[in-house]
Amino acid sequence: MTTDITIVPKIFVFCNSCQPNWHSATALTQDGFFIASHLCSNHGFILHDMGVHPTGWKRDIYDVHYPCGYDVVFEENPWDGSAEFKAAYEKHKSYTKEQYEEKMLIHKKHDGEETK
Ligand SMILES: [Zn+2]
Repeated sequence: MTTDITIVPKIFVFCNSCQPNWHSATALTQDGFFIASHLCSNHGFILHDMGVHPTGWKRDIYDVHYPCGYDVVFEENPWDGSAEFKAAYEKHKSYTKEQYEEKMLIHKKHDGEETK
């Protein structure tokens, strides 16, 4: 067993509201930030529209959050997700509002709200 592989952070994509014609897909980073979402008319579109596929959308947002690389993982059953997915959500809940908003500033660089 080799241990010299590079471990990259994960981004978990899941369908937060799975209705027949309405799929609210969301991306949660391993460090607990909800950085992207998309409404898909078909559950199967999520893989492309949320960048689970390397040529899909939202990858520009993911690049901002993890410039050194990442893996996008699709959580088919978020209500019974992987341990890593659950840990990411626990991480999300551990932040104060201020901590969360400060980190999310990197995703707002184009809307003129920067103060530094
Ligand atoms: Zn769905």
